[in-house]
Amino acid sequence: MPSPTRREFLTGAAQAAGVTTLGSFARAGEVLVLTFSADELAKAFVARHEAEVRPLEKASSLAWWVANVSGKDADFAAKEQAQNRLDALLADHERFAQLKNIKERSVTDPLLARQIEVLYLMYQEKQVDPALLKKITAKANAIEQAFNVYRAKVEGRELTDSEVRKILKESKNSAERRAVWEASKGVGQIVEADLKELVKLRNQVAKGLGFSSYHALQLHLNEQSQDAVIALFDELDALTRGPFLKAKAEIDTRLAKTYGIAPREIRPWHVHDPFFQETPAVFDTDLDAAYKNADILKLCREFYAGIGLPIEDVIARSDLYEKPGKSPHAFCTDIDREGDVRVLGNIVPTEYWMGTMLHELGHSVYSSRNMPRSVPYVLRTEAHILTTEGVAMMFEKFSKDADWLRAMGVTLDDHAAFDAAGSNMLRLHLLIFSRWCQVMLRFEKALYDDPEQNLNALWWDLVEKYQGLSRPEGRKAPDYASKIHIVSAPCYYHNYMLGQLFASQLHHAIARNVLGGVVPLKANYVGSKAVGAFLKAKVFEPARTLTWNGLTRHATGSDLNSKAFAADFQG
Ligand SMILES: [Zn+2]
Repeated sequence: MPSPTRREFLTGAAQAAGVTTLGSFARAGEVLVLTFSADELAKAFVARHEAEVRPLEKASSLAWWVANVSGKDADFAAKEQAQNRLDALLADHERFAQLKNIKERSVTDPLLARQIEVLYLMYQEKQVDPALLKKITAKANAIEQAFNVYRAKVEGRELTDSEVRKILKESKNSAERRAVWEASKGVGQIVEADLKELVKLRNQVAKGLGFSSYHALQLHLNEQSQDAVIALFDELDALTRGPFLKAKAEIDTRLAKTYGIAPREIRPWHVHDPFFQETPAVFDTDLDAAYKNADILKLCREFYAGIGLPIEDVIARSDLYEKPGKSPHAFCTDIDREGDVRVLGNIVPTEYWMGTMLHELGHSVYSSRNMPRSVPYVLRTEAHILTTEGVAMMFEKFSKDADWLRAMGVTLDDHAAFDAAGSNMLRLHLLIFSRWCQVMLRFEKALYDDPEQNLNALWWDLVEKYQGLSRPEGRKAPDYASKIHIVSAPCYYHNYMLGQLFASQLHHAIARNVLGGVVPLKANYVGSKAVGAFLKAKVFEPARTLTWNGLTRHATGSDLNSKAFAADFQG
């Protein structure tokens, strides 16, 4: 019969004695043999993890928050230290061996089994030879440094990043655009050799852990498989290709006119963003005027309270306006999985900040604040990065929705004009972003599969195929290497896109099941407590007891797919 003594013995004495395999254990000189079931071992492991890792996680989250608010060197140093302490615990080989042993013995209690699964991935990620890890960190830092100090140089003059963007946005001169665009890509040549080295080092880590490539490993650690993600992206490609090419043709026509060239002469330096990941500014779509006198925070408070997901406690803990030293970005963080959830923002009255605050506060409602304490600590978090991004993006879209603004009591000078501009902007943004994500996913997969292939040819083949953008004739430079995300956030981009698919699919489910079958484009949730209740029950409360696809089925009735997303953006 299990007793506290046995548990104590397991977590205390056996660990202290350095026992790594916890199947059965006999103390030397004693006749007593204790055999533990897989469930008992799992329970003990989770208890120890919670006792030791939980305080470090909280300390690390707090240090991260403090550093981003203050911007002080000392706070950043403290943040790094806190992260290192946490990493060191998770890297412990003995613990990982115990975990592996427990996992292989099949735990029967589903909640316990799920915790072991999640913990296994968490520890597995850190099981890297420290010398190899050091090499990787140094290589990645060197490349990031090269990115930071690189300045595009045109005719002997150095340009800052924002000068490059300004010229690519405003210049009417094709030759000037080309020169600036090519100069902005110059960093690729500088980092190419190091980047290939980094890819090989990362592949070494993957092979050491039994994976074919670093890409396969990263997806595995995020409970995804390459085949499943590629299948989703193939489906997305088929459904968005037509509407995208139609939109692209219109954009090309408008762009070509401004440069006095033919649409077929459009090249990558003509599309404003250096990677064509954003919509070129060819439509008259200034939405900011509507927000000039708006109280963005008040709108957020009233909106979230109105759907039964009040955020007053979050606002009270948050840091929402600009100040010196503070991070200029925005994020939401769950400090302790006990309800201490905070948002960092820099609100100014613009459409961008309306969308950003709806987004970050969307994360804040999908947090431990709305998860039952009966869900164990290890699982008391979002099902996946893509599901929390999806919820946040679902709310974010309302900043471009004229009907949402009206329902919130904001009167627009020209409702119809805002409505047309807002929905066009949103549609183009999502279409263009989805095609860009296709390039990133497929390029990174191929890059780690074979870093020795002709990567520049591969890059431009993908850009032509998915972004419909003609490659510059005769160009031999490693343009792929000028995208910093390949270095700093590897194999991650696809999650933004999957988040958008989740956002559309969830929104359609809400329109269908909660709002009585209203057309999804007309569903704005304002004042509907049923929306909040649905989200709580179907999305927030399961926390990480379900996988991302399990949660998608639970909330929407089907696996994650592209249909709702495509339906939203058919032209
Ligand atoms: Zn987000």
